[in-house]
Amino acid sequence: MEEKRILVARSSMPPFEEYVEAIRPLWESAWLTNMGPNHELLKQKLADYLQVPNLSLFVNGHMALELCIQAMGLTGEVITTPYTFVSTTHAIIRNGLTPVFCDINPKDYTIDVDKLESLITEKTSAIIPVHVYGNICDVERIDQIAKKHNLKVIYDAAHTFGETLNGVGVGNFGDASMFSFHATKVFHTIEGGAITTADKHLDAQMYKLKDFGIKDEEVIDGIGANAKMNEFAAIMGLCNLVHLDEEMAKRKVVVERYRKHLSNVAGLTIMQEVPGVKSNYAYFPAVFDEKIFGETRNDVFARLKEHNIFARKYFYPLTTDLECFGDRFASADIPVARYTADRVLTLPMSASLSVEDVDRICDIILNR
Ligand SMILES: *Cc1c(COP(=O)(O)O)cnc(C)c1O
Repeated sequence: MEEKRILVARSSMPPFEEYVEAIRPLWESAWLTNMGPNHELLKQKLADYLQVPNLSLFVNGHMALELCIQAMGLTGEVITTPYTFVSTTHAIIRNGLTPVFCDINPKDYTIDVDKLESLITEKTSAIIPVHVYGNICDVERIDQIAKKHNLKVIYDAAHTFGETLNGVGVGNFGDASMFSFHATKVFHTIEGGAITTADKHLDAQMYKLKDFGIKDEEVIDGIGANAKMNEFAAIMGLCNLVHLDEEMAKRKVVVERYRKHLSNVAGLTIMQEVPGVKSNYAYFPAVFDEKIFGETRNDVFARLKEHNIFARKYFYPLTTDLECFGDRFASADIPVARYTADRVLTLPMSASLSVEDVDRICDIILNR
C-alpha cells in the first residue's frame, strides 16, 4: 500500500458551510471589490488582532512590500538578507533600488546585527530585515542603528502573523511591517497581505497606491498599481480568523512533538521556544550538519520523499544565487547564510498533521 502523502504545508480551510453563508450576501450587494464592507471589517479585526494602530490590506504580501517601498520614497541601497523568499529581494530591485546583502546569524537565521553597520554607505536609505520562520529579529539594535544613520526599517513579517515580543504585537517594530496572507501561511485570505505602520501619512499613501494612485474622482496624484484585496478573499480571512487560535494550538502540538524527538540529536539543530515570544508555530526548520549527523540534508530530503513525505529546502538557493541575477551578487559576504541554506530542511508543518504523522517523519529522519 502506498504510504500517506504528507506535504510541507496544507492550507487551513474553514468549514465549507461557514464560507458559503458568509459569501451569500455578495449576490445581493454585488459589491465584489474596491474596499467593500468585508474588506473594511477584516482590516479592523486584523488591526485589533495584531495590536497595531493602522493596517492596510493588499492583494498579496509581495505587492504590499513593493508599494510600501515606493510610498517611502527610498533611494539608492537597501540592506537586506539573502536568506528569505525571493519576494523580499525582488521588491527592492523592482523599485529600482540596489539590495546590499547582510549575512544572517547562526542562532535564529535573522539579519546579523553585528555585520550590519559596516554595510551602511552614504547611499543607504533603508534596512529590510526578515523575521524568518517567525523568528523575531533583534528589533532593538536594528532600531538603534537605523536611528543613528537616519534609515527607514521595513520588516518582512510574512512569517510572523500574530506573534508578540514581550506582549507587543510584532507589527509595531520599525517604520512598517509586511504580512503575507498567502494560502500556505498560518493565517490566509487565499492570496493577500498587509502593511502595518504607526505612520498615518504612510498608511494613507498605501491606501492610494494600491488603487492606481487615485485620490478622488478627478485627481490621480500617485503612480500606483492595482493591489486591492477583493471581498471573497476578505471573507476567507474573516472565516479563518474565527478558527485561528484553535489552528495555532494544533500547530503547537506538532512543534512540541517534533521537539520531543529531534532535540539533543547530534548534528541536528532545531528551533526552541524563545522567552518573551508568543510563537505562531508557522515553520519547523531543521539544519543537518552532515559531518556529525552522518547524512546530508539532501540525503534526508530524498529518504523522506521515498516515503511520500515532502519537506522543503527552504531557503535554498539564497536569493543572491538566483538565475535572474546572474553573478551580480556573487561577491556578497554571507558565509552563515550559505552554510545554512546548504543544510536546512523545513519539515512538514500544518494543523492537520497528527502526532502519529510526526512520529513517523521523525522515525525516518533518525533511522539513517
Ligand atoms: C510568503 C512570503 C512573501 C510574499 O507573500 P505573498 O503573499 O505570497 O506575496 C514575502 N516574504 C516572505 C518571507 C514570505 O514567506
